[in-house]
Amino acid sequence: MPIKKLLIANRGEIAVRIIRAAQELGIATVQVHSEADADALPAQLADEAVSIGPPQAAKSYLNAQAVLDAARQTGADAVHPGYGFLAESAEFAGAVADAGLVFVGPSAHAITLMGDKAAARHAAQDAGVPTVPGSAERIEGVEQVKAIAAEIGYPIMIKAAAGGGGRGIRIAANAEEVAALVPQASAEALSAFGDGGLYVEKVIERARHVEVQILGDGENVVHLFERECSLQRRRQKVWEEAPAASVPDNVRAKLCSSAVALAEAVNYSGAGTVEYLYDDATDKFYFIEMNTRIQVEHPVTEAITGIDLVREMILIAGGKKLDITQDAIARRGHAIEVRINAEDPSNGFMPFPGVIGNMRLPGGPGVRFDSMLYPGYAIPPFYDSLLAKLIVWGDDRDHAIARLSRALGELDIEGVKTTKPLFCALAKDGAVQEGSVHTRWLEGWLEDNASRLT
Ligand code: ADP
Ligand code: ADP
Ligand code: MG
Repeated sequence: MPIKKLLIANRGEIAVRIIRAAQELGIATVQVHSEADADALPAQLADEAVSIGPPQAAKSYLNAQAVLDAARQTGADAVHPGYGFLAESAEFAGAVADAGLVFVGPSAHAITLMGDKAAARHAAQDAGVPTVPGSAERIEGVEQVKAIAAEIGYPIMIKAAAGGGGRGIRIAANAEEVAALVPQASAEALSAFGDGGLYVEKVIERARHVEVQILGDGENVVHLFERECSLQRRRQKVWEEAPAASVPDNVRAKLCSSAVALAEAVNYSGAGTVEYLYDDATDKFYFIEMNTRIQVEHPVTEAITGIDLVREMILIAGGKKLDITQDAIARRGHAIEVRINAEDPSNGFMPFPGVIGNMRLPGGPGVRFDSMLYPGYAIPPFYDSLLAKLIVWGDDRDHAIARLSRALGELDIEGVKTTKPLFCALAKDGAVQEGSVHTRWLEGWLEDNASRLT
């Protein structure tokens, strides 16, 4: 049944993005918010706003019962979880369904299969998708890890089975480091994710991060091509683009069809992303994980395909079958997104909460600015520091980079420090312009350049 009233269980720019899609579909909106976000833009834009608790996310945005109570009180018939928070909680997706509401996302079963990253490797292998050499299951102890490493070779990555957001990852260069890092990583995973389970992978050196956007309706799955997110800091993406700068057409076809095969194997419904590492020296790609939600960087795919992913995921959750065939999905031009965070890049990317003063926003052809900002907005210190995403589109990659520089020149946000200087410098960098960067390139570059990013 088509959704009539949608509750948004998130905050910030993605809440604004979801409200916009719902309004265009004639769907009423309910924004839940913490006490710290009562004046925030999502609460202003939604038809109704309901406070669900104190500022700390654990007491508000992560409080599944409070979200469900708000849905009942307001008569919402569906819940969109956005990204982060409860978006990849199978338990929450199940509770939403048990309450007779529609969860805008895949089934709790699909989230369970993909949410455990060690189990997801299995699902990928079963679907014929190549994975990074590593442990077959969750690992059981230091000796087992040493034995696996002896086979696949060092360095290895020790990763949290329940990990996300670039956290819970350690690199071991030899057996001594394995002995020290395994217990450490397990303890940290337990406190960060409530699950100390670990798995290991070989480190793929000089890899590119390439990911495929898919849409499914529970039966059929289509892909919307790939994105490249190799510019990362602490394993978190800062600059994303579509199509991938590094992937030749023959590899692209294999990559995209493997993502479709995996999603079909789990009867995937909604929007999802299959993440890979790509080694351009050997043309090999390796599955790393599937994100069962809308991603931060979805707008670059929207820009090159013209398909509104958030609208599609809401329609699919409301029972619509995919009416778009793979042949009908074309791509045009090149898009880049940069994450404007309230952080000081010249000071270790220290978070920089504060009050927004005057703003000058970029515009003109091929420019999109997704944010929750307005003059006078006080950035609460409780959440992550993403303020805005600047998305540019151009005829080709060079044009998109030129447009990015131009749009960044127009952008001015008074009152706080932001990551804008980082992107101004990256857009001028030769390696970035060439598209030759791998996932650890930015960290080296920052060692030489960070102090100048003011
Ligand atoms: P994407 O794959 O979409 O780029 P990220 O890894 O950047 O996603 O994470 C998406 C968002 O979710 C980020 O804002 C991040 O801070 C947040 N996030 C990631 N993991 C968690 C978590 N375990 N709990 C809460 N928020 C998280
Ligand atoms: P998360 O769930 O935190 O997003 P991922 O498994 O997606 O974790 O890994 C995050 C990032 O870490 C990747 O985008 C990539 O840059 C790096 N990474 C992950 N696995 C490997 C690996 N086996 N070899 C090299 N880099 C890796
Ligand atoms: Mg990832």
